[in-house]
Amino acid sequence: MTVFAAAGVCGAAGSRSDQPGWVAFDGDRITETGVGRPPSGAADLGNAVLAPGFIDLQVNGVGAIDFAAATTLEYADALSALAAQGVTGCCPTICSAPLDAYGAVLARAEGALLAPGADRRPTLLGVHLEGPFLGGAPGAHPTALLRAADPAWLQDLLDRYEGLVRVVTIAPEADPTCEATRLLTSRGVVVAIGHSAASYEDAIAMVDMGASVATHCYNGMGAFHHRAPGVVGAALDDPRLTPTLIADLVHVHPAALRLAAGTKRNVALVTDAIAVAAGSITGLAVHEENGAPRLANGTLAGTSLTMDAALRNMVAIGIELDRVVEMASTIPAEVLGLRDRGRLGPGTRADIVVLDRSTLAVRSTWLAGRQAFAP
Ligand code: ZN
Repeated sequence: MTVFAAAGVCGAAGSRSDQPGWVAFDGDRITETGVGRPPSGAADLGNAVLAPGFIDLQVNGVGAIDFAAATTLEYADALSALAAQGVTGCCPTICSAPLDAYGAVLARAEGALLAPGADRRPTLLGVHLEGPFLGGAPGAHPTALLRAADPAWLQDLLDRYEGLVRVVTIAPEADPTCEATRLLTSRGVVVAIGHSAASYEDAIAMVDMGASVATHCYNGMGAFHHRAPGVVGAALDDPRLTPTLIADLVHVHPAALRLAAGTKRNVALVTDAIAVAAGSITGLAVHEENGAPRLANGTLAGTSLTMDAALRNMVAIGIELDRVVEMASTIPAEVLGLRDRGRLGPGTRADIVVLDRSTLAVRSTWLAGRQAFAP
């Protein structure tokens, strides 16, 4: 058994980031947590905060590795690199592609999932398909690839790669009958509304059929208007929807981030990071300009954000650390229906991020009780 004591603990019952506390784990599971004086034999981590591992629901790539093209070995490298951000689980995200390209992409992801040593890397929690069933706010997705949702194709994909597809971002415009939404949710896949200029009413119709996430709220959506609140209005107003946020302070104004974080509990942080060092995404050249990757015409194309930087940015704009950790760990785990992650409590996985309490830099990351990262 190992006990970590620190100046603060987030995501455990009764704990707070500004109160001393401790977390005990045995093997891969947490056995107990507490506040105040730790049991004897605890390792004192000093001026640190313990937090449940971060879960990134939307990450397209890391460094020069684009998940859409990654080999099994590259998957392993990319996932390992995410541990440096405090990430212990993620959904590799695939942008819009021709329908016949997805089989090979998912086969490689499945290979990564089954590869030796996968349990020593941040967990591949399932693939997030962002497109190609998108609507009137495509952002950097090539419009030539966008199409109406195809339930038969989706059914075949789910049958061939059982359990591998975890999130699908769809626009209401691309699924007006909600047939694809119903199919996906009945198969346990999280349906996210995104890249859409749909009305509030059309977004709610999709929520009624089981959609539960709004992909990178504000970005890739029609603008909020008080008489036509659109997808943004649905994302912020309907308790069934969890908006995700890109907190790189480029994609969304701090006021809009605070507004989302303050308006409802279930809000999640994502990076939407792309493999900037690869120089292209879905075949289109990207370059870094004014704090984010962009297409040649200046359109934002994902981010160069990390989960730990997103956390620091949210704290810097005035949101309490405990709340930010909830958005980086607890709520993404809830979105995926994972009960053994996203919190520090008896029986949950010992996925722990140790943050410096002053700088909020990642000091170490622990995966199922084993150290996966230390600078
Ligand atoms: Zn997007």
